[in-house]
Amino acid sequence: MCGIVGVIGSTSTTDILLTGLKRLEYRGYDSAGLYVNDQSGHDYLVKTVGKISQLEAALTSDVQGTVGIAHTRWATHGQPSVANAHPQFSDSKRFYLVHNGVLNNYHQLRSDYLSDVDFASQTDTEVIVQLVAHFVEHDDMSTFAAFQKTLQLLDGSYAILLVDQEQPDQIFVGKNKSPLLIGIGANFNLVSSDALATYDQTEDYLELHDQEMAVVRQDDVKIYNLDGQLQQREMTQITIDHSAVSKGSYPTFMLKEIDEQPVVMRRIGQEYFDDHRQAIIDPELLNALSHTDRVYFVAAGTSYHASLVGKRLFESYTKIPTEVGVASEFGYHWPILSEKPFFIFLSQSGETADSRQVLVEAKRRHLPVLVITNSANSTLAREANYTLLLHAGPEIAVASTKAYTAQIAVEATLAKALGEKLGIKAAQNFDLLTQLGLAANGMETLVSEKETWSQLAENYLSGINDAFYIGRGVDYDVSLEAALKLKEISYVHTEGFAAGELKHGTIALIEPGIPVIAFITEKSTAAHTRGNVQEVVARGAKVLVIANQDCQEVQDQIILPTLATELMPLLTGVCGQLLAYYATLQRGLNVDQPRNLAKSVTVE
Ligand code: GLU
Repeated sequence: MCGIVGVIGSTSTTDILLTGLKRLEYRGYDSAGLYVNDQSGHDYLVKTVGKISQLEAALTSDVQGTVGIAHTRWATHGQPSVANAHPQFSDSKRFYLVHNGVLNNYHQLRSDYLSDVDFASQTDTEVIVQLVAHFVEHDDMSTFAAFQKTLQLLDGSYAILLVDQEQPDQIFVGKNKSPLLIGIGANFNLVSSDALATYDQTEDYLELHDQEMAVVRQDDVKIYNLDGQLQQREMTQITIDHSAVSKGSYPTFMLKEIDEQPVVMRRIGQEYFDDHRQAIIDPELLNALSHTDRVYFVAAGTSYHASLVGKRLFESYTKIPTEVGVASEFGYHWPILSEKPFFIFLSQSGETADSRQVLVEAKRRHLPVLVITNSANSTLAREANYTLLLHAGPEIAVASTKAYTAQIAVEATLAKALGEKLGIKAAQNFDLLTQLGLAANGMETLVSEKETWSQLAENYLSGINDAFYIGRGVDYDVSLEAALKLKEISYVHTEGFAAGELKHGTIALIEPGIPVIAFITEKSTAAHTRGNVQEVVARGAKVLVIANQDCQEVQDQIILPTLATELMPLLTGVCGQLLAYYATLQRGLNVDQPRNLAKSVTVE
């Protein structure tokens, strides 16, 4: 989940490492560190707990070199501490290593090979660097052979950079399941978990595949499989829009990304529709989908919530039965599949390890796989049969906003195109392009009323520890997402609940003053949800109703324009984002980087 950066051959090594770490900080940020070596006998190891700014403050001007590796950590084994921060090093202090991922067999490896070694950290990672040192120092292996043997022994996910103090003219690199790219510079080379870290240094990258290793020198890169055979690799160009990854005049990335949603809706309209207002989707994808008897959405977190909406869109506009699975559950408890299943994975980053685990198994079973992602160069996009891009631009804030609404818009486009192909009337009558335009306008109004949202957050969410979002149908789906948004950044314990289910037990938690935010946008169930609202009002809840024009009543606090039922989350979702944003800001918390979370969840 962390970020890794490495550079060799540049005189601005420390700068490149630090800038890269700052750009990757969104991936994990409980501690950080770097190792640099000037290749003439001086080297430096600096590690700090906390954000990259702490690391920056700890760096003295002499910390310079021509080779370096750096890491921002999202702890999986051992608390955030200087000892557990990376780079980890061997007992002999000859080998320095950063690692992204999780090892399953580190206990076993430790007892098999390293029982006499004193460990300085509680990390799984330290086993890797101690193993390399063990094979070099005890078994007289070359560093290359020791590294290769070590990788062969590892069971788990890893992106690894290793520097040998005695051969500082090379970085040893290994990868399995965790993302890693090698960047090709002019007389220097780079390695990073994400091109975002190094986009100002190069646009030329070599992708390392799973179970591969590489030796990166200033002017040369060699890639090998774990048997030591040289592999050929084509260069990939990755261009990142510089303005898209800066906050510009915004105080936070999250606010910028909330505000970008109208533009993203219009961009999806442009990318996926032709001049005749026809949805353009790869005909091969539509063809494959038209032969399925059941669609399985698999996702995690916010993407899972967008998949719930996807199910409604698919069932309404294609009439194909659709299931939704939480990736971390699905992967270990496969349901009995239909005869002709089709898998759709939603992942903002395209790196979600839980989803990938299911994808790998789906591919093993030769099942067709589509990935809907924001990241064209991601692992999931590479491994799927088909990819649809969100075109949302980089999303940096940990709490997903524009990717969620983009996912719904792309799902809707796919459902419409497929439904039309299948001759479904509802799809033919669905003027999605107009709907996306209306959604964009509605979003524009919402984001222009920041004062209102700040005030609502103050009135309903200040000083409370618990909250509820309730709704029915698609309003229930969005309640789950709005609740997740509030809890993940403001740390308020929030439940997203099916409005009608509350009375079957959970209503016991309603006490005077507790905020209950009700979404009411579905005409057929509006009266019932209003009844549920009355039930909580009677028990002292402070209720905020967000309705659409079709369902509005005079006392409702927020009235949204009416969109197609399944598209209402494009607006109600933004309401949830704005409430979460202001509740968090008013608590003085870090909106973009909430505690314990990471943006790209690359561990299972
Ligand atoms: N498992 C390693 C640790 O806890 C690496 C975590 C990460 O990917 O940041 O130190």
